[in-house]
Amino acid sequence: MKERDLVSELSELIGAENVLVDEAARAGYAHDRLPYANFRAREGALVGTLPGLVLRPASTEDVSAIVRKASEVDKPLIPYGSGSGVLGGIIPLGEELMLDMQRMNRILGIDRENNLVTVEAGMNGEAFEDALNAEGYTSGHLPQSLTISTVGGWAACRGGGQESSRFGKIENIVVGLKAVMPDGRVLEVRPLPKRASGPSVLDVIVGSEGTLAVITELTMRIWTLPAAEEAIVLALPDRAAALGLAKRIMQAGLHPRIVRLYDEKETALRTEGIDAYRTRPVMANIVVCGEPAIVAAEAALVRGFAQEVDAVETETRPFDEWRAKRYHSITKQWLDRGYYNDTIEVTVNWSNATALYDTIAARIAAEVSPDAHFSAHWSHVYPEGVCQYMTLRLPPMDQAAALPLHQKMWEIATGETLVHGGSIAHHHGSGLFRGPWMDGEHGVGMDLLRRIKASVDPQNLFNPGKLGFPPRAGAVDPYRDRGANV
Ligand SMILES: Cc1cc2nc3c(=O)[nH]c(=O)nc-3n(C[C@H](O)[C@H](O)[C@H](O)COP(=O)(O)OP(=O)(O)OC[C@H]3O[C@@H](n4cnc5c(N)ncnc54)[C@H](O)[C@@H]3O)c2cc1C
Repeated sequence: MKERDLVSELSELIGAENVLVDEAARAGYAHDRLPYANFRAREGALVGTLPGLVLRPASTEDVSAIVRKASEVDKPLIPYGSGSGVLGGIIPLGEELMLDMQRMNRILGIDRENNLVTVEAGMNGEAFEDALNAEGYTSGHLPQSLTISTVGGWAACRGGGQESSRFGKIENIVVGLKAVMPDGRVLEVRPLPKRASGPSVLDVIVGSEGTLAVITELTMRIWTLPAAEEAIVLALPDRAAALGLAKRIMQAGLHPRIVRLYDEKETALRTEGIDAYRTRPVMANIVVCGEPAIVAAEAALVRGFAQEVDAVETETRPFDEWRAKRYHSITKQWLDRGYYNDTIEVTVNWSNATALYDTIAARIAAEVSPDAHFSAHWSHVYPEGVCQYMTLRLPPMDQAAALPLHQKMWEIATGETLVHGGSIAHHHGSGLFRGPWMDGEHGVGMDLLRRIKASVDPQNLFNPGKLGFPPRAGAVDPYRDRGANV
């Protein structure tokens, strides 16, 4: 079918004003916040291509009609939330149709009896949380990117919010959904407490990053806003003590809303002028919340556990300052100054957490450059282990020299995570950039995922080339210009 005919047929389906054809509009959808794509954009280069068209559906029916048309003309498509992903999940590799979900932005109902909300997938995170707060609730999912992401993007990426230690990651919060499959049919998972009726269909879709289905509606748990809270800020002698404290708290069955542990470098940045950190250079922020009696009991337990690891309680200023800026990002400041800044979040069991940090830090200093920055914090904790959130940065330098070093840092951090038995991704998803490590992550499980993808989407229509799944014939190689030694 000629491009002109496709545009007019799609315009008939969703209105001409919702079919964006001009190059400037399409350029706005060419990449997300993948740091590698941002580095390339400094030179005016694209990692992939522009999308062929940008389509803005307003309903599940619109999405289904678009998908049926795309299947008929064999044109691949990519669901777009708001492009805050950091793994290149929305980057077109062959002028795919971009399905911008942001017109689907309404809360469809709050079910006060069952503490559930049903929301359209394109709703902005901040607007969603504000609307819930106005009704006395929270979704409990508060990513740093709250203001720049959509609820559909959260579910698609298996995201994690800053309060995950209490409320869980998004896969623990989403209990039902509607999604359009590659053949245009609408899949519905009813929002029920639990099931034992075979493998979880919900879990096949949550985390599929647009490769298996377009999520159009989500039903999620909601929680009444906590009646009380207490913040405890601690200076600890070393990282092992801080990790041990978090493990003790989670294994004792406490439900802190926030647990944030910072290594020496990240502690120093946040604790200027507070003496306790001179001798105890590692900070922990623990916040408990809920009914006042529970808060008092949990706070007393945390303080008792803290004494056992020689921690000293300090003023709460570092936590207050973090909370005031909890949805701000500093990445752009580094980018604008010519640095190569990136973050990698992985998970590891408690038994390997200290060794993982030490090994990555040592290898980056020895094998990348003594000027390379490496630091970490731990802000999602579980009874069995922890997410290690690492910041890696190279100083300004020639791009041709920087890109192989950037790749080397990823290989060290991700490779060592697998060697230490961890998972390569805690909440950012896998997108484009983590594709090469997906076999190492899943082993035989990756074969299962590839077979599911091939049978659900035999035309490879939905977000081809992501999650380690094959691209379509003729797709561009996103790493074609990465340079030698990679
Ligand atoms: C400064 C900053 C801080 C961040 N902090 C966090 C954090 O604390 N926690 C966290 O989890 N993430 C964080 N992220 C990553 C990012 O915000 C999340 O991955 C977010 O969930 C992406 O949402 P989005 O709507 O922008 O999705 P997009 O970036 O538009 O898309 C991401 C992927 O999801 C797919 N997708 C989007 N919508 C749908 C849909 N309706 N149906 C099917 N597939 C869809 C896309 O195809 C793509 O593969 C951060 C990012 C930045 C830039």
